[in-house]
Amino acid sequence: MAPLLICFMQISFCPARSLVRSSMDANTNSGSSARAERKQQEKAKIIQREKQRQTVKTISRLLQKAEGERTQEDRALLQEHQDTVQELSRRQSRRSLLKRKQEEVFDDAENLKAKVKQLAEELQQAKHVVIYTGAGISTAASIPDYRGPNGVWTQLQKGRSVSASDLSRAEPTLTHMCIWMLHKVKMVQHVVSQNCDGLHLRSGLPRHALSELHGNMFIEVCDSCSPAREFIRLFDVTERTALHRHGTGRLCPHCRAELRDTIVHFGERGTLEQPLNWKGAAEAAQRADLILCLGSSLKVLKKYSCLWCMNRPANKRPKLYIVNLQWTPKDNLATLKIHGKCDAVMGLLMEELGLEIPVYNRSQDPIFSLAKPLSAQEQKSHTREEIAPPSALEDTSQDTQAQGEATAVQGGWFGRGYAKARRKKKTV
Ligand SMILES: [Zn+2]
Repeated sequence: MAPLLICFMQISFCPARSLVRSSMDANTNSGSSARAERKQQEKAKIIQREKQRQTVKTISRLLQKAEGERTQEDRALLQEHQDTVQELSRRQSRRSLLKRKQEEVFDDAENLKAKVKQLAEELQQAKHVVIYTGAGISTAASIPDYRGPNGVWTQLQKGRSVSASDLSRAEPTLTHMCIWMLHKVKMVQHVVSQNCDGLHLRSGLPRHALSELHGNMFIEVCDSCSPAREFIRLFDVTERTALHRHGTGRLCPHCRAELRDTIVHFGERGTLEQPLNWKGAAEAAQRADLILCLGSSLKVLKKYSCLWCMNRPANKRPKLYIVNLQWTPKDNLATLKIHGKCDAVMGLLMEELGLEIPVYNRSQDPIFSLAKPLSAQEQKSHTREEIAPPSALEDTSQDTQAQGEATAVQGGWFGRGYAKARRKKKTV
């Protein structure tokens, strides 16, 4: 500051002060005229814009009039402003296209049945089937969609609260159970899900056949341990986490580093090996000859190029079947688009295939044997409601089938070992 001050003082005591002043006056004069000119130009621009706005308004009003009602003068105006007429009609068609894309469309009963029959035939002939699932398969379980306008993530970002108890009370839907069955009878080889609700895992689908691309709300991991350690819980572990803030507040019992959730938010890149299982998803897509998309807008999935084999010529790509009520960006590439609710379509599909629709049974839910209990100090580390074990599990009666299903699901690093320990404990 000091040198600047000296400089000013020197100028004010300068002997050629009047000379400096007159040159400054000239500058001020030319400055003010330039400013006036700029002002004038700005004003002209504003008037022009306002005129344009009025024209658009008038033309738009005229276009809304029925042709027969337009006067001679109206017609002349429309003729005079052809450019505006064209721009308005372009805007109108963009708006109606957007509206059409958001509309829910339902195939009528007969059409739906015929389409499902075709899907059933294709499924029976296919050698490697992959299913991609989105929020639409969980809505029947009252799970709000995750990223939609009313989704969990969106609500939390807006600072609103979301009833977390609804999430832990949700159970696998008819669609989840049908997918489990199709995998069991080897008609489906892999499932790639965008849902974080953990319902595929809870339906009994083995981990190796599942890629949860956006994470699983019941799983927290230690990525300081190598390989990363996974802890499945009976409650939503994401209570304190958010975009770029994944620490759950609990510690890894092996290295004491903070555990993190597995959720992948918008704008984040999921790097965890499990439960994301990108390797499994990419391999499945490469081997697939049929891809069935269920209840996904595909707006996010379409960005993952490895899932669509787009590097191959069109006739070498897997056949694409899409079940969704709304438009998807892959519709024009689909062999068949089925407009129906997932549960309705899957119910018909099982009938066509002559397969029984399995009913979710809490006593066979693998999460109870996969879950790692909290230590005594950690009991109060969360406030979320826990998935209540069914009374059947608390009984000492051994349901051999239930145990068989549970141990068939491999939990991360502890999976089978933990299930064994639990059984041993029960028999004591
Ligand atoms: Zn650790």
